[in-house]
Amino acid sequence: MKDLVVAIDGPSGVGKSTVGKALAACLGVPYLDTGAMYRAVGLAVKRKGIALPLEDPSAVAAIASGVDVRVTGSAADARTWLNGEDVSKEIRTPEITTYASAVSAVPGVRRRLAGMQRSLALGGGGVLEGRDIGTRVVPETPHKIFLMASAEVRARRRFAELQEKGSPQTFAQVLADMEARDRADSTRADSPLTDDGTYTRLDTSALSIEEVVDRILAAVGRPPQPPG
Ligand code: C5P
Repeated sequence: MKDLVVAIDGPSGVGKSTVGKALAACLGVPYLDTGAMYRAVGLAVKRKGIALPLEDPSAVAAIASGVDVRVTGSAADARTWLNGEDVSKEIRTPEITTYASAVSAVPGVRRRLAGMQRSLALGGGGVLEGRDIGTRVVPETPHKIFLMASAEVRARRRFAELQEKGSPQTFAQVLADMEARDRADSTRADSPLTDDGTYTRLDTSALSIEEVVDRILAAVGRPPQPPG
Protein backbone atom coordinates (compact mmCIF):
# COMPACT_ATOMS: atom_id res chain seq x y z
CA MET A 1 0.00 0.00 0.00
CA LYS A 2 1.84 3.11 -1.17
CA ASP A 3 -0.65 5.86 -0.23
CA LEU A 4 -1.96 6.87 3.18
CA VAL A 5 -5.24 5.12 3.98
CA VAL A 6 -7.11 6.00 7.17
CA ALA A 7 -10.01 3.71 8.10
CA ILE A 8 -12.71 5.20 10.32
CA ASP A 9 -15.39 2.81 11.50
CA GLY A 10 -18.10 3.09 14.14
CA PRO A 11 -21.85 3.16 14.71
CA SER A 12 -24.28 5.62 13.18
CA GLY A 13 -24.30 9.23 14.35
CA VAL A 14 -20.88 9.00 15.97
CA GLY A 15 -19.48 11.77 13.76
CA LYS A 16 -17.62 9.69 11.17
CA SER A 17 -18.61 11.89 8.22
CA THR A 18 -17.88 15.25 9.85
CA VAL A 19 -14.59 14.00 11.26
CA GLY A 20 -13.68 12.12 8.09
CA LYS A 21 -14.22 15.17 5.89
CA ALA A 22 -12.19 17.45 8.15
CA LEU A 23 -9.42 14.88 8.44
CA ALA A 24 -9.23 14.31 4.66
CA ALA A 25 -9.01 18.09 4.11
CA CYS A 26 -6.18 18.34 6.69
CA LEU A 27 -4.27 15.46 5.17
CA GLY A 28 -4.94 16.55 1.58
CA VAL A 29 -6.18 13.09 0.58
CA PRO A 30 -9.49 11.90 -0.95
CA TYR A 31 -12.52 11.28 1.27
CA LEU A 32 -14.84 8.34 0.77
CA ASP A 33 -18.18 8.00 2.56
CA THR A 34 -18.84 4.29 1.95
CA GLY A 35 -22.28 4.50 3.59
CA ALA A 36 -23.39 6.75 0.71
CA MET A 37 -22.79 3.83 -1.66
CA TYR A 38 -25.00 1.49 0.41
CA ARG A 39 -27.58 4.26 0.52
CA ALA A 40 -27.52 4.60 -3.29
CA VAL A 41 -28.09 0.84 -3.67
CA GLY A 42 -30.88 1.09 -1.06
CA LEU A 43 -32.51 3.82 -3.15
CA ALA A 44 -32.18 1.73 -6.34
CA VAL A 45 -33.85 -1.22 -4.59
CA LYS A 46 -36.69 0.96 -3.30
CA ARG A 47 -37.22 2.43 -6.75
CA LYS A 48 -37.65 -1.08 -8.12
CA GLY A 49 -40.67 -1.38 -5.82
CA ILE A 50 -39.06 -3.88 -3.45
CA ALA A 51 -40.52 -3.65 0.07
CA LEU A 52 -38.86 -4.17 3.46
CA PRO A 53 -38.07 -6.56 5.02
CA LEU A 54 -36.15 -7.89 2.00
CA GLU A 55 -37.38 -11.30 1.01
CA ASP A 56 -35.20 -12.16 -1.96
CA PRO A 57 -31.51 -11.35 -1.42
CA SER A 58 -30.57 -12.61 -4.88
CA ALA A 59 -32.91 -10.07 -6.52
CA VAL A 60 -31.27 -7.34 -4.42
CA ALA A 61 -27.77 -8.51 -5.37
CA ALA A 62 -28.83 -8.51 -9.03
CA ILE A 63 -30.04 -4.90 -8.76
CA ALA A 64 -26.75 -3.92 -7.06
CA SER A 65 -24.70 -5.49 -9.81
CA GLY A 66 -26.69 -3.70 -12.51
CA VAL A 67 -26.48 -0.15 -11.17
CA ASP A 68 -23.77 2.43 -11.62
CA VAL A 69 -22.93 3.90 -8.20
CA ARG A 70 -20.30 6.61 -7.91
CA VAL A 71 -19.08 9.05 -5.33
CA THR A 72 -17.26 12.09 -6.61
CA GLY A 73 -15.79 15.33 -5.35
CA SER A 74 -13.57 16.22 -2.46
CA ALA A 75 -14.55 16.33 1.21
CA ALA A 76 -16.10 19.79 0.74
CA ASP A 77 -18.34 18.85 -2.18
CA ALA A 78 -18.82 15.07 -2.06
CA ARG A 79 -21.65 13.85 -4.29
CA THR A 80 -23.32 10.49 -4.80
CA TRP A 81 -24.53 9.36 -8.21
CA LEU A 82 -26.92 6.58 -9.16
CA ASN A 83 -26.94 5.76 -12.89
CA GLY A 84 -25.72 9.27 -13.65
CA GLU A 85 -28.31 11.03 -11.43
CA ASP A 86 -27.18 13.13 -8.47
CA VAL A 87 -28.94 11.46 -5.51
CA SER A 88 -26.87 13.12 -2.76
CA LYS A 89 -29.95 14.60 -1.05
CA GLU A 90 -32.42 11.83 -1.69
CA ILE A 91 -30.28 9.16 0.02
CA ARG A 92 -30.38 11.03 3.36
CA THR A 93 -34.03 10.40 4.27
CA PRO A 94 -34.91 8.09 7.21
CA GLU A 95 -36.57 5.66 4.77
CA ILE A 96 -33.45 5.27 2.63
CA THR A 97 -31.37 4.93 5.81
CA THR A 98 -33.43 1.83 6.63
CA TYR A 99 -33.10 0.51 3.08
CA ALA A 100 -29.32 1.05 3.19
CA SER A 101 -29.00 -1.01 6.35
CA ALA A 102 -31.17 -3.77 4.87
CA VAL A 103 -29.29 -4.05 1.55
CA SER A 104 -25.93 -3.90 3.36
CA ALA A 105 -26.62 -7.31 4.92
CA VAL A 106 -26.78 -8.94 1.46
CA PRO A 107 -23.39 -10.58 0.72
CA GLY A 108 -23.57 -9.87 -3.05
CA VAL A 109 -24.08 -6.16 -2.37
CA ARG A 110 -21.17 -6.06 0.07
CA ARG A 111 -18.84 -7.90 -2.30
CA ARG A 112 -19.49 -5.41 -5.08
CA LEU A 113 -19.28 -2.22 -3.01
CA ALA A 114 -16.36 -3.33 -0.82
CA GLY A 115 -14.44 -4.25 -4.00
CA MET A 116 -15.04 -0.78 -5.47
CA GLN A 117 -14.03 0.85 -2.18
CA ARG A 118 -10.84 -1.18 -1.95
CA SER A 119 -9.83 -0.21 -5.51
CA LEU A 120 -10.40 3.46 -4.73
CA ALA A 121 -8.33 3.20 -1.51
CA LEU A 122 -5.45 1.38 -3.15
CA GLY A 123 -5.60 3.65 -6.19
CA GLY A 124 -4.82 6.89 -4.39
CA GLY A 125 -5.25 6.52 -0.63
CA GLY A 126 -7.76 8.50 1.39
CA VAL A 127 -9.90 8.68 4.46
CA LEU A 128 -12.58 5.98 4.20
CA GLU A 129 -15.41 5.84 6.68
CA GLY A 130 -17.98 3.11 7.25
CA ARG A 131 -18.48 -0.08 9.24
CA ASP A 132 -16.00 -2.60 7.80
CA ILE A 133 -13.18 -0.47 6.41
CA GLY A 134 -10.57 -1.71 8.87
CA THR A 135 -11.80 -5.30 9.03
CA ARG A 136 -12.64 -6.01 5.40
CA VAL A 137 -12.05 -3.20 2.88
CA VAL A 138 -8.42 -2.30 3.74
CA PRO A 139 -7.49 -4.49 6.72
CA GLU A 140 -3.79 -3.99 5.98
CA THR A 141 -3.75 -0.26 6.77
CA PRO A 142 -2.04 0.49 10.08
CA HIS A 143 -4.29 3.54 10.53
CA LYS A 144 -7.62 2.36 11.93
CA ILE A 145 -9.85 4.41 14.19
CA PHE A 146 -12.99 3.13 15.90
CA LEU A 147 -15.21 6.03 16.95
CA MET A 148 -17.68 5.52 19.81
CA ALA A 149 -20.25 7.56 21.73
CA SER A 150 -23.30 6.57 23.76
CA ALA A 151 -26.54 5.96 21.86
CA GLU A 152 -28.10 8.96 23.66
CA VAL A 153 -25.36 11.33 22.52
CA ARG A 154 -25.46 10.01 18.96
CA ALA A 155 -29.25 10.20 18.74
CA ARG A 156 -29.16 13.77 20.05
CA ARG A 157 -26.74 14.76 17.27
CA ARG A 158 -28.76 12.99 14.58
CA PHE A 159 -32.02 14.48 15.89
CA ALA A 160 -30.56 18.01 15.64
CA GLU A 161 -29.46 17.32 12.04
CA LEU A 162 -32.89 15.99 11.07
CA GLN A 163 -34.67 18.91 12.72
CA GLU A 164 -32.58 21.32 10.68
CA LYS A 165 -33.84 19.55 7.55
CA GLY A 166 -37.43 19.83 8.79
CA SER A 167 -37.91 16.11 9.43
CA PRO A 168 -40.95 15.33 11.64
CA GLN A 169 -39.25 12.46 13.54
CA THR A 170 -39.31 12.66 17.33
CA PHE A 171 -36.22 12.13 19.48
CA ALA A 172 -37.63 8.79 20.70
CA GLN A 173 -38.06 7.61 17.08
CA VAL A 174 -34.55 8.71 16.14
CA LEU A 175 -33.10 6.87 19.16
CA ALA A 176 -35.13 3.70 18.47
CA ASP A 177 -34.21 3.68 14.75
CA MET A 178 -30.57 4.21 15.57
CA GLU A 179 -30.47 1.41 18.12
CA ALA A 180 -32.23 -0.97 15.70
CA ARG A 181 -29.80 -0.09 12.91
CA ASP A 182 -26.75 -0.50 15.18
CA ARG A 183 -28.03 -3.90 16.26
CA ALA A 184 -28.54 -4.98 12.64
CA ASP A 185 -25.13 -3.61 11.53
CA SER A 186 -23.30 -5.30 14.43
CA THR A 187 -24.98 -8.69 14.24
CA ARG A 188 -25.23 -9.39 10.49
CA ALA A 189 -23.30 -12.44 9.34
CA ASP A 190 -21.29 -10.71 6.58
CA SER A 191 -18.69 -8.18 7.81
CA PRO A 192 -20.51 -6.84 10.88
CA LEU A 193 -19.41 -3.63 12.56
CA THR A 194 -16.86 -4.83 15.11
CA ASP A 195 -13.71 -3.67 16.82
CA ASP A 196 -11.47 -6.68 16.24
CA GLY A 197 -8.71 -5.27 18.43
CA THR A 198 -6.71 -3.69 15.57
CA TYR A 199 -8.23 -0.21 16.03
CA THR A 200 -7.38 2.87 18.06
CA ARG A 201 -10.61 3.49 19.97
CA LEU A 202 -11.82 7.03 20.46
CA ASP A 203 -14.86 8.05 22.52
CA THR A 204 -16.24 11.23 20.92
CA SER A 205 -18.99 11.88 23.53
CA ALA A 206 -17.23 14.78 25.23
CA LEU A 207 -14.94 15.92 22.40
CA SER A 208 -15.31 18.64 19.76
CA ILE A 209 -14.77 17.80 16.08
CA GLU A 210 -11.38 19.58 16.21
CA GLU A 211 -10.31 17.52 19.21
CA VAL A 212 -11.28 14.27 17.50
CA VAL A 213 -9.42 15.28 14.32
CA ASP A 214 -6.33 16.25 16.32
CA ARG A 215 -6.31 12.92 18.13
CA ILE A 216 -6.57 11.04 14.86
CA LEU A 217 -3.80 13.16 13.33
CA ALA A 218 -1.64 12.24 16.35
CA ALA A 219 -2.51 8.54 15.95
CA VAL A 220 -1.59 8.76 12.26
CA GLY A 221 1.68 10.53 13.12
CA ARG A 222 0.84 13.90 11.52
CA PRO A 223 1.11 17.38 13.07
CA PRO A 224 -2.09 18.90 14.56
CA GLN A 225 -4.29 21.27 12.53
CA PRO A 226 -3.29 24.92 12.52
CA PRO A 227 -5.50 26.90 14.98
CA GLY A 228 -8.55 28.79 13.66
O1 C5P B 1 -22.74 5.53 7.32
P1 C5P B 1 -24.21 5.54 6.97
O2 C5P B 1 -25.08 5.69 8.16
O3 C5P B 1 -24.53 6.50 5.88
O4 C5P B 1 -24.48 4.09 6.37
C1 C5P B 1 -25.77 3.64 6.02
C2 C5P B 1 -25.83 2.14 6.22
O5 C5P B 1 -24.96 1.51 5.28
C3 C5P B 1 -25.35 1.63 7.58
O6 C5P B 1 -26.39 1.56 8.54
C4 C5P B 1 -24.83 0.26 7.28
O7 C5P B 1 -25.88 -0.68 7.31
C5 C5P B 1 -24.36 0.35 5.84
N1 C5P B 1 -22.90 0.43 5.74
C6 C5P B 1 -22.20 -0.75 5.77
N2 C5P B 1 -20.85 -0.75 5.58
C7 C5P B 1 -20.20 0.40 5.38
C8 C5P B 1 -20.90 1.63 5.37
C9 C5P B 1 -22.26 1.61 5.57
O8 C5P B 1 -22.77 -1.81 5.96
N3 C5P B 1 -18.87 0.36 5.15
